Amino acid sequence: MTIRERVDELVKTLPKVYPDAHCELDFRTPLELLVATILSAQCTDKRVNMVTPALFRKYRTAADYARAEPTTLENEIRSTGFFRSKTRSIRAACAAIVAQHGGKVPDTMETLNALPGVGRKTANVVLGNALGKDEGIVVDTHVIRLSQRLRLTRETDPEKIEADLMNIVPRAEWTIWSHWLIWHGRRRCFARKPDCRNCEVLDLCPSGPVFIRTGEAREPATAGPLSALPRRDRLLSPSGRPPSRRVRAAA
Ligand code: SF4
Repeated sequence: MTIRERVDELVKTLPKVYPDAHCELDFRTPLELLVATILSAQCTDKRVNMVTPALFRKYRTAADYARAEPTTLENEIRSTGFFRSKTRSIRAACAAIVAQHGGKVPDTMETLNALPGVGRKTANVVLGNALGKDEGIVVDTHVIRLSQRLRLTRETDPEKIEADLMNIVPRAEWTIWSHWLIWHGRRRCFARKPDCRNCEVLDLCPSGPVFIRTGEAREPATAGPLSALPRRDRLLSPSGRPPSRRVRAAA
């Protein structure tokens, strides 16, 4: 099977495995997602989601963040780690949004990426999830690991991996593709001891059989609770909700 054929199969299979896949940061507006994404660096989404409700209640606009007293903001986001540099990034990005974009989060890769403290990955998160624009593919630690294990890239640099993925993944799937890989990385394709024996895309993954043979894969006895189910049954949503429209269309 060629890489493109495997990607086509992954695009058909992964929405059945993860019909609920979505951005796990809580947000209602592009500004909230921008702030949450900056906070998520070196921090879990769960921790960020514990901090943001109070933050979003207090700071309603980019101007609110821009004029925030640094020490106060640092204390409010302290538990997410790297709170001093995150405070600098949030205040600087929001000051630029006020000065250059009338207080509105810009909606192109070029303008978002030009904001201080906003890299391509953060810009992709905001564009794809808050603004509905597939301008690139979010490449985080899970996407790097899975893209390499699935042999969709030989690169190690995130921007080069993104370029490889943009060549082979259909553009309409760029945003959801990252969520599928991130969800699979968190639930099955662990950094250490991936659960290859129970992996729903084992047939499409060149690394799986190698990991099983060499003992790098998780042993059957330690596999997760989903492994008790026949593989086909695991295609149901963990939440028990019916498959999304995307899944029904793909089925
Ligand atoms: S077969 Fe193993 S390495 Fe490949 S995607 Fe599945 S869990 Fe990851």
